[in-house]
Amino acid sequence: MNIILLGPPGSGKGTQGESLEKSLNIKRISTGDMLRNEVNSNSDLGKQVQSIISSGRLVSDDVIMRLLELTIKSSEYENGFILDGVPRSLGQAVSLDNLLEGISRSIDLVLYFSISDEVLIDRICNRYYCANCGTNYNKAYKNPKIQGKCDVCGGGEFKIREDDNIDSVKKRMSEYRSKTEPLVEYYKNKGILKLVNCDQDVEKISKDIDLLLKND
Ligand code: AMP
Repeated sequence: MNIILLGPPGSGKGTQGESLEKSLNIKRISTGDMLRNEVNSNSDLGKQVQSIISSGRLVSDDVIMRLLELTIKSSEYENGFILDGVPRSLGQAVSLDNLLEGISRSIDLVLYFSISDEVLIDRICNRYYCANCGTNYNKAYKNPKIQGKCDVCGGGEFKIREDDNIDSVKKRMSEYRSKTEPLVEYYKNKGILKLVNCDQDVEKISKDIDLLLKND
């Protein structure tokens, strides 16, 4: 099954994507994580995109599609994938369709994470992650089971994303509204979009997604 998680930054795509990976046994592809890895490893691409990411702007469609093409075509994803944070523009959506058509595949389902601005800002301001394995947490509703120790790798160092500051968040929201939100209409017209109400707690959102998948 090939799934897209579509929604604004902070709507919970990462958290829900991580649990879907386990329940569906297919892997998630997060272009945000891929780009942050490039920045952390100080690669040429990392140096090129660092300031774009921290200011909250979008990286060019060309760069994203090159990263995505290599990943999707690798054998790890032949049983399916969950796209988190991509596509983020009409150009990326069309390129993705062409890329998938070329390998006789297509998107089966788009989960649209619908959320109000207040809940969104609250989520972003509370989130943090394990510096070792990248597992996401949130001060308000998802802390490690043992305080100060990552549930997944046992690591004890946690960080806040560099772009989770108010200026960058404002820019990311305006990029989302102007470039990404039109994709809701694009996928609705294809008949593969399903709405998820994300103004609820994480467990309820997970349950709603499970139901949507069962009825798909
Ligand atoms: P995310 O972790 O998905 O919120 O992405 C963090 C940042 O990486 C974004 O604010 C963009 O600067 C960049 N980025 C991630 N995915 C994309 C994409 N599909 N298109 C353009 N820029 C992206």
